[in-house]
Amino acid sequence: MSEPDPGLLSLNTATVRQQWTLPQIIDGCARHGIRGIAPWRDQVATAGLKETAARIRDAGLVVSGLCRGGMFPATDREGRRAALDDNRRAVDEALALRAQCLVLVVGGLPKSRDGKIESKDLAGAREMVRDGIGELLLYARDAGMPLAIEPLHPMYAADRACVNTMEHANDLCDELGPGLGLAVDAYHVWWDPHLEREIERAGGANPSRLLAYHICDWLVPTTDLLTDRGMMGDGVIDLRLLRSWMEAAGFRGCHEVEIFSANNWWKRDPDEVLATCKARHLECS
Ligand code: ZN
Repeated sequence: MSEPDPGLLSLNTATVRQQWTLPQIIDGCARHGIRGIAPWRDQVATAGLKETAARIRDAGLVVSGLCRGGMFPATDREGRRAALDDNRRAVDEALALRAQCLVLVVGGLPKSRDGKIESKDLAGAREMVRDGIGELLLYARDAGMPLAIEPLHPMYAADRACVNTMEHANDLCDELGPGLGLAVDAYHVWWDPHLEREIERAGGANPSRLLAYHICDWLVPTTDLLTDRGMMGDGVIDLRLLRSWMEAAGFRGCHEVEIFSANNWWKRDPDEVLATCKARHLECS
């Protein structure tokens, strides 16, 4: 297995969001020769949509995805309506940034408007997700913005995403049709015994559903459900094998590094973090 093309490295801005503002991250990518970026909507809102789009364009960066839309389930109709409205705005922002896709973290059990989970109806939540994506697709398809479902590790099923496997995401793509695909995040799906098969299935669709590929590593032990992701090479995911499956399925897109790390990488000098991402991308992914 050969080394990855360094030109395909992309930085998910969550990786250094504690240290740098979005404009600083864009400048940092350019300075380190990282050609791709995937910003988060709250950072874009703070920095300004137009200004961010211009800055990214001037830096010559590819936007491998916008994070994120989704969070469809809600306990009442108004809540679901509000989620859909917000998702339409996310599509507009993705277009303005010329993002390759809008990443969807679909949401877990329905929440009330103050953010409390008040239902145990997981099957119902999954129906709300299907219906929400179906409605959003009508808008996104017209706009020409691909939607990428990101299956999340099942530990997030209650509060972040009740689509937890590639198979479930592929099934939704089958059901809902064109304009929908997948974001394959190594951290979330590495454990899945059907992973190779489902990557092949996604890549074999026409057009391919493989819209994004996120990398980091799974640490043992993991000390926090959300903010203890590892740098490539520091954990147990066979990232090289995973990339070989993605490439065999026809994927030629960015390798987006996405690391939430409250006690390690978020505390380091961000220039060191970016340099390490570049080195580990080549050595370990
Ligand atoms: Zn991800």
